[in-house]
Amino acid sequence: MLTLVSQFVISGADLGAAFLFMFGLKRMSSPATAPSGIRLAGLGMVAAVLASFLYLLTIDAAARPHMMVNVGLAVTALLIGGVGAWLVGRKVAMTAMPQMVAIYNGMGGGAAGSIAAVELFGGHTHGATQLIVTLLGGLIGAVSLSGSVIAWAKLDGVLKKPLRVKGQQFANAAVMVATLAVAGVIVASALGVGGLWLTAPTWIWIFFGCALVFGVLMTLPIGGADMPVVISIYNAFTGLAVGLEGFVLQNPALMIAGMVVGAAGLLLTVIMAKAMNRSIANVLFTNFGTEAKAKPGAIKGSERPTEASDAAIKMRYASSVIIIPGYGLAAAHAQQKLYEFVKLLLAAKVSVKFAIHPVAGRMPGQMDVLLAEAGVPYDMIFQLDDINDDFAATDVALVIGANDVVNPAARTDKSSPIFGMPILNADRARQIYVIKRGQGKGYSGIVNALFYSPNCNMVYGDAQAVLVKMIEAVRGLGAAAA
Ligand code: NDP
Repeated sequence: MLTLVSQFVISGADLGAAFLFMFGLKRMSSPATAPSGIRLAGLGMVAAVLASFLYLLTIDAAARPHMMVNVGLAVTALLIGGVGAWLVGRKVAMTAMPQMVAIYNGMGGGAAGSIAAVELFGGHTHGATQLIVTLLGGLIGAVSLSGSVIAWAKLDGVLKKPLRVKGQQFANAAVMVATLAVAGVIVASALGVGGLWLTAPTWIWIFFGCALVFGVLMTLPIGGADMPVVISIYNAFTGLAVGLEGFVLQNPALMIAGMVVGAAGLLLTVIMAKAMNRSIANVLFTNFGTEAKAKPGAIKGSERPTEASDAAIKMRYASSVIIIPGYGLAAAHAQQKLYEFVKLLLAAKVSVKFAIHPVAGRMPGQMDVLLAEAGVPYDMIFQLDDINDDFAATDVALVIGANDVVNPAARTDKSSPIFGMPILNADRARQIYVIKRGQGKGYSGIVNALFYSPNCNMVYGDAQAVLVKMIEAVRGLGAAAA
């Protein structure tokens, strides 16, 4: 009776968890509903964990003789992981988010790989299908683990340069073929076809070793600049690996969560690659940004600096301003000051909108999150397609810490590494102000012709410091009038 009741509760919790994951993900599609989406998905995770513990406690030992039950160890692991993640999550800077996502993603892949390892070393798989699915999940999980660790090291600056050697792609292909061959040997021997030469555990060690090496080799040559796209690909891998291992364990919550993560990761990868006008193969196998140079003589003239106060006063008396935030806004932590300045413009009856490029910053949605954190109302925030036609009728485009996403070379210069990437039409506004610290290039490493155009002025300085001056200048006008 107890088993029947617990089975009913476990199935209900699994189903509820799956529903919460999907509903939560749906709500994450808009900044307004995203916080509640994250809470709902978290609640789903709690339900799935509780269901797993109930399963462990009420498990019928005779039905699953190989199942090791060590609740103390599971609780300890849960506490270490939960407390560690909570502490790190609270402290992490917005600019360090991609690193955090990389390492968490790697852990997901590692967890899926570990499930596969337990099943394989314990000889718990039944039949060829289950064995192949376990191996596939183990392979993808291990690649995702080691690849994500390299991605983290690159994003964190631990590994500074892409490591490329001649014949690298050949070596990568050879390691992948070797991994698949070892998997073939494991399956063949399980089916009683052919001998093992080595003991079964040795083959399993070799299999995981090859998969981990492949993840490292595949990620090392990719430039740090492309890491967010790579993380997104590994995110899809992790989801797939988790889903496959969920199938092996016959756990519906794992299966559904894995597939949801896998599909979301894949879609995100496609969206990011499209927004950068690059194919996924181009991201994985080519050398973007690291050697980009401006065409000699392509850009004429010089940048024209102006004072923060002059730019602020011009905006105060403009009728429309579009603000383009970029990576530098996040680096300067200037979102609060920006909104303070915007509120002064709004009070002076200036129409203000924010224009968001899909790959502004260093991770998808980073600008939306920054603005939401500062309290900017969602109806002031517009995505590229919804606002690009408005620039031509706008008095001022204010570019803050953005560079590549407003580089007109993407439209005209076929030799540019960003050629074809859709950009925000800041250059079509009557006047452009650009806040940046100096002559620093953007992520793609190329010069921006916009900064040299006759209707553009540069306001040099850290975004936060410049905005403080702008706020003072507009407040000063009010005080003088009174
Ligand atoms: P960019 O990286 O092109 O430019 C950022 C600019 O900010 C720099 O030119 C820098 O100039 C300036 N800056 C840096 N720190 C500060 C500061 N403290 N105060 C003021 N300015 C500062 O950023 P964008 O957002 O325009 O473009 C994003 C780029 O990242 C695109 O190329 C995109 O493809 C790429 N990318 C984005 C991903 C995403 O998911 N969002 C993922 C992968 C790549 P200076 O040093 O002179 O101050």
